[in-house]
Amino acid sequence: MKSKTDIIHPATEQSIRNAGLALANGSLVVIPTETVYGLAANALNPTAATAIFEAKQRPFFDPLICHISDYEMLNLLTGTLSAQMRRLTEAFWPGPLTIVVPKLTEVPEIITAGLTTVAIRMPSHPVCTAVIKAAGVPLAAPSANLFGKLSPTRPEHTLELSSSVHSIIDGGPCTIGIESTIIREIDGRFVLLRPGKITAHQIESALNIPVIPTEETELPDAPGQLPSHYSPNSQVILIDEGATPSLVAEHSVLLAFRRSRKESPFAKTIVLSSQGSLTEAASKLFESLHTLDALSPSAIFVETVPEEGIGVAIMNRLKKAAFRE
Ligand code: AMP
Ligand code: MG
Repeated sequence: MKSKTDIIHPATEQSIRNAGLALANGSLVVIPTETVYGLAANALNPTAATAIFEAKQRPFFDPLICHISDYEMLNLLTGTLSAQMRRLTEAFWPGPLTIVVPKLTEVPEIITAGLTTVAIRMPSHPVCTAVIKAAGVPLAAPSANLFGKLSPTRPEHTLELSSSVHSIIDGGPCTIGIESTIIREIDGRFVLLRPGKITAHQIESALNIPVIPTEETELPDAPGQLPSHYSPNSQVILIDEGATPSLVAEHSVLLAFRRSRKESPFAKTIVLSSQGSLTEAASKLFESLHTLDALSPSAIFVETVPEEGIGVAIMNRLKKAAFRE
């Protein structure tokens, strides 16, 4: 077993070059992005992409997002974008927006789970961009965690995958902390497949047409859209801000939005943003859930946040984390 210091490498020219070489040769590397840490592989190499599914224990029906460093790489994955889609990439790339567009035949089926479309994003994290450039190919990179579990926002959160990867590149804590917004164009209509930092409202403003929320479509479910996902080991229970639940098992913990409580039944409380900033709350969400879950509490109570701006994406993740069959 490799030690933590052997596998986590500060982002230097040398570590980025080595990571690029390893990726080009078919290995997996954990990379930082502005959203969450990703488990990356050469997106044009089906064997390398298959290793992602094996390491994450991810079902093969869940397609992967391909990450590119520049528009030239886009041409390896898809044809000419529609004028509307181009408007979105010009407005939000590099950044936390994933587009779903028709795929070229060169994109392996394993990447798209057999679909005729491919999901693509150009991240803004400079280390991520440098690794993609060093690899010289688009990188498939889902979150670097076991399937269905909490997303990683720091390199240490990805250590459970260390036996499957060449290296973990440390790019610091993720600034956004929540997965990308996913948008798909179907017959000229734009469907939001996953909420994220870039809101439906921002997309509507860029396009001048209404965006259709996922629920109103009949697209097949992919796991990011399944009711249960993003789950800590302990049970998550959502409560209103400031509410005191009538029954709190001993050694329960609280993830509060703005304030801790004076007299509290909770063994530990983490406050997401004392200023009430939803952006700060998003950036700390998974990290705080990791910290609380590590205490093996009886339950993690989590205060809901306003469903506006990135709050829509926060509540989307929290509802899935709290969902039990
Ligand atoms: P992640 O788990 O963050 O890597 O995001 C992958 C998610 O992107 C999947 O679970 C799907 O929801 C979505 N996705 C990827 N490719 C496609 C596609 N071709 N069509 C629709 N959704 C896709
Ligand atoms: Mg994920």
